[in-house]
Amino acid sequence: MLSIDFYKGQKVAIFGLGRSGFSSALALRRGGAIPVCWDDSKTARDNAQTAGLIIEDLRVSKTWNEFSLLLLSPGIPYIYPQVNQIVEQAWRHQVPIDNDVSLFFQSYSQAFDDKASSMPRTIAVTGSNGKSTTSTLIHHILNDSNRNVQIGGNIGTPLFDLSPANIVETTVMELSSYQIEVAKLLIPDIAVFLNFSPDHLDRHGGIGGYFSAKRRLFKSNQNQISVVGVDEKEGLAITSDLRSRKGSQVIKISTKINLTHDEQSVFSDGRNLFECKLGKIVNKLDITNLAGLPGNHNFQNICAAYAVCRVLEISPEDIFTALKSYNALPHRTELIATLSGVKFINDSKATNATSTLSALNSFSNIHWIAGGRGKGDGITSLMEHLGSVKKTYLIGESALDFSVQISGSPQSIFQTLDEALAAAYKNAIPGDTVLLSPAAASFDQYTNFEQRGLHFSKLVSELEI
Ligand code: ADP
Repeated sequence: MLSIDFYKGQKVAIFGLGRSGFSSALALRRGGAIPVCWDDSKTARDNAQTAGLIIEDLRVSKTWNEFSLLLLSPGIPYIYPQVNQIVEQAWRHQVPIDNDVSLFFQSYSQAFDDKASSMPRTIAVTGSNGKSTTSTLIHHILNDSNRNVQIGGNIGTPLFDLSPANIVETTVMELSSYQIEVAKLLIPDIAVFLNFSPDHLDRHGGIGGYFSAKRRLFKSNQNQISVVGVDEKEGLAITSDLRSRKGSQVIKISTKINLTHDEQSVFSDGRNLFECKLGKIVNKLDITNLAGLPGNHNFQNICAAYAVCRVLEISPEDIFTALKSYNALPHRTELIATLSGVKFINDSKATNATSTLSALNSFSNIHWIAGGRGKGDGITSLMEHLGSVKKTYLIGESALDFSVQISGSPQSIFQTLDEALAAAYKNAIPGDTVLLSPAAASFDQYTNFEQRGLHFSKLVSELEI
């Protein structure tokens, strides 16, 4: 666990007492600061009070002039769709706003001020899809190679619950656009940008805002090594920015473009992974048939993880061994069961059209269950990719919109997941796949995507053969 001591004796306002906010409050208190906390949820406030934290309604607090900082949790909208009342208070009283990611980098950079280390210590992974898979894959490969490595951030452990810099060799962080948008200090030794597609547009004031948030990760650290997916124009723009910066090292990754002629690259042709240096292929791995990394979309995640681990001097052979023992994360194209020759796949984490496209491309004869709280253009972009879908079963808040967006294709609307699954199972024949890949957020009917995925798994376990 980390102690944050650079606010010792000072009052810090904390807004949002979810996992990261709560953990930040405790880390600041351990370091001698006085955290003053607020969350709109009474349960969260009660939990914090039980832990002995000071609770004050920051919307109406009279003590804003006493705060040195407002620490914002990633779940709190910052400027869009509307400026939050507490953010406005901080602006009015000229209290700086920051988050745990920034304080984490500050704490790690202090620990290494005088100890020059040639080996990168912090790795931050971002992108629209594949962040969790890639971060856990990097962690798995390093761990398998007996490196002293930890993982946290948007996945798993809050950053302040991780080990301090002096007792761990490498920290892998998954960072969301919400976290990157607010953090003042972003100085990972290695930064990864996987891909880019529209998501969270309401929180970023549109696609430009979403991209601006993500690209901040590549702006501050002069000596950063950047691993950048160049399959979209946004990745190309980042590499172009980086190339003009002295001292920066860029490794391009792709699953669409042959990057042999690049200075440093890792790319896949849909079967093999190629590592290239100065225009030459220096290593090649067959990455088909990796049980824990099904589907073409995972080739991109593998290329990124491979690139990072090569920087950390793991051999291609050791990386390959670890790729074979990686287990897929739950709720990401996860095979739940095969009943009467029908496969049931839980892809509840697919909360946007691009991630669902990956799943639609990975299976055939699909009975596709989709819907929830829709985002942006919903599933309009998927209309031309329904070749392997036998029928769509629409649920949730977005059911009617989705139905219009794919009108003309076989489909039915259902009230609940229970009804949709029962109908899909009834229609499926041996060799078919029943796929839950909502292309929508879960919040209309569930607390989070995990709860939606677990509900699907439970329903599948109750089906009669
Ligand atoms: P994230 O943490 O960015 O949400 P995950 O690794 O949890 O990403 O995967 C989320 C969803 O996106 C899953 O449904 C998965 O099948 C799909 N996915 C994973 N990697 C990629 C990728 N590189 N490109 C497109 N879709 C992906």
